[in-house]
Amino acid sequence: MSLPTTVSTPGMPEQITIYEVGPRDGLQNEKSVIPAGIKAEFVRRLVAAGLNTVEVTSFVPPSWIPQLADAAEVMESLGELGRQRTRPVLVPNQRGLDNALEAGARAVAIFGSATETFARKNLNRTIAESIDMFAPVVQRAQEDKVWVRAYVSMCFGDPWEGPVPIAQVVDVCGRLMDLGCDELSIGDTIGVGTPGHVSRLLEALDSQGIATYRTAVHFHDTYGQALSNTLTALRHGVRTVDASAGGLGGCPYAKSATGNLATEDLVWACRGLGIETGVDLDALVATSIWMAEQLGRPSPSAVVRALAGATSTERTPTVES
Ligand code: MG
Repeated sequence: MSLPTTVSTPGMPEQITIYEVGPRDGLQNEKSVIPAGIKAEFVRRLVAAGLNTVEVTSFVPPSWIPQLADAAEVMESLGELGRQRTRPVLVPNQRGLDNALEAGARAVAIFGSATETFARKNLNRTIAESIDMFAPVVQRAQEDKVWVRAYVSMCFGDPWEGPVPIAQVVDVCGRLMDLGCDELSIGDTIGVGTPGHVSRLLEALDSQGIATYRTAVHFHDTYGQALSNTLTALRHGVRTVDASAGGLGGCPYAKSATGNLATEDLVWACRGLGIETGVDLDALVATSIWMAEQLGRPSPSAVVRALAGATSTERTPTVES
């Protein structure tokens, strides 16, 4: 069978928005460079599978992430499909914003860090300096009516600093949202978060005026907690969940960071819980299998592996005896 039995569960939302990060967060961590045409085709297939919000690429300097040096080419290949408020691109600074706007982007994402060490490693700046760098980016984006998301990395732990105090995370998130961002995404970049920690952080953010409905969650499955953490966040009122088709991705600067929450695993759980995602799971699995062929290795997603093993005959409904 290719879908779980739906059993509606009290306390869960009727629907959520999946913020698909595979083409950017997933592919930036690949050792090989994928051709721009394949990346654009990946985005097209994801949108066709019902993933409306898809982060397309990243306008960071090519020396930072060579895998995404072809951002303008990917946008060009996508045409109108890339020029929408539901197709964000990453930008670190004003130069990145210039290039993104020139390529037609109508949504951008900035990316801060909850810890000083990762801010240094990822942005070569202190937290305060990085916020100074983002301020004019957000201001200009707002003037151009471009949608802005603020990512914050290392919200649940940092590979160099260890535990990260919740107050420190809330402070950074507050300073970024005060710039005027439309959405916050709290990232568990190395996957060390657990459900109680998720609850505490969401409560702390809410008490500081960052509404849960504006907060997205970005979990990694390093320790197998991504889906548990996500369901906890949904119970707290989160309505946007970051996920990566096939579980692609990690973080090029964070040691031991493995894959993002797999979109298929999320869709499967939501289907079982009666939460609408708008995603055609079979089409999504087919897309991830296609992408895995391009990358030359199987998807780490449990749902992709399970459904890939089912032949079309096995997936034909049968009368249970
Ligand atoms: Mg990620």
